[in-house]
Amino acid sequence: MSIGQQIIAACERLGRHSDDPDGLTVAYLSAAHCAVAAELKQAMVAAGLAVTVDAVGNVIGRLACGRPDAPTLLTGSHFDTVRNGGRFDGRLGIVLPIALARHLNESGERLPFDLEVAAFAEEEGLRFASTFLGSSPLVGQFDANVLECTDASGVRMRDAMKDAGLDPDGIAGLRRDPASLLGYYEVHIEQGPVLLHAGEALGVVTSIAGCVRHCCRVIGTAGHAGTVPMPLRHDAGTAAAEMVLAMEARCRADPSATVVGTAGRFEVVRGATNVIPGEAQFTIDLRAAEDGPRDRALADVLLSCQEIARRRGVSFASELTMKVPATPCTPAWVDALAAAVAGFGLPARRMPSGAGHDAMMMGRALPMAMLFVRCGNGGVSHSPAETMTAADAELAAAATLAFWRSLGAAAQDAPDRARE
Ligand SMILES: [Zn+2]
Repeated sequence: MSIGQQIIAACERLGRHSDDPDGLTVAYLSAAHCAVAAELKQAMVAAGLAVTVDAVGNVIGRLACGRPDAPTLLTGSHFDTVRNGGRFDGRLGIVLPIALARHLNESGERLPFDLEVAAFAEEEGLRFASTFLGSSPLVGQFDANVLECTDASGVRMRDAMKDAGLDPDGIAGLRRDPASLLGYYEVHIEQGPVLLHAGEALGVVTSIAGCVRHCCRVIGTAGHAGTVPMPLRHDAGTAAAEMVLAMEARCRADPSATVVGTAGRFEVVRGATNVIPGEAQFTIDLRAAEDGPRDRALADVLLSCQEIARRRGVSFASELTMKVPATPCTPAWVDALAAAVAGFGLPARRMPSGAGHDAMMMGRALPMAMLFVRCGNGGVSHSPAETMTAADAELAAAATLAFWRSLGAAAQDAPDRARE
């Protein structure tokens, strides 16, 4: 079996464990979650890695290079899923480096750094609405308050962890000294249609988009659907609809071409078929590769909403509910990864990541790079229809190994340069 075929087969195998029988759902510390962790541990051992399970449930496999002072390259992704998720989201970034570690062991090649494959226990926040639970402790960003969160059946996270034999009080001690780490690298399925549409297998991530969210409220005047003439209406529903369309138009026209805007929730409050909407609420979710274009788009959108409200005789109010900055990938690593991809005669498209990933958390403290792999089926992800090919997995593995070798060469040339 080729490495690409091994990677696909490993994801298929892991995909058999699910909390619900119809789809693929693996919530933090569920029975399926523990089964996946056990299988990953086994796969790491079989690949010749020294395996530990840490206080938060991350499964970490280490391939030491034999030099006592060598830095460590961390690579990995998450193995929990969303509800009814896909088989490759997260898992690809775990099983690909395991396959490469096995290859390195079998071929006798030693990289000039230690390699650690991190299978992060939680990233999606399905059970406790926490995110980056697995990766955040490693870079000292763990928020201990989440331990008191409860799941839908009232189980506290702290208790669920103890029941699973984990050590919630040991999480703070998982912080790694950044000086001992070369950086973090993650392979992830694209979760979008860009590479598929371009006919390209791999993409080099330049930046992981941040996110700004607002909750918006439009108040108009309710009225009888039959008696109020159109010119006399102050319809909160149509006003909100125009505002959402203004957001769409602004994002589509943004000169950066990376701004995306979504009104994922939109409702007429206490709506009825025969009543002119008196109140509407909607959400704004704006993301971009860089914070500047995103924030300028947001300012314009909110201004448009005010103008639309004035013209229509309704009121508009918005409240900021979330603001996360974009995380740029490390430029020298982006260049090295692009060169590794181009070395296989591939276009090495540079692209932002619209979705958040563990790399976003790790990139706050460490040099970081990320490789995207083409998603099949129209680019659908977070769905059982998510798919990718063994040929693309093979290319991703080859480009990853070439990138690691180039990191090794750079680290040997100038131990401090990779950290700049
Ligand atoms: Zn993911």
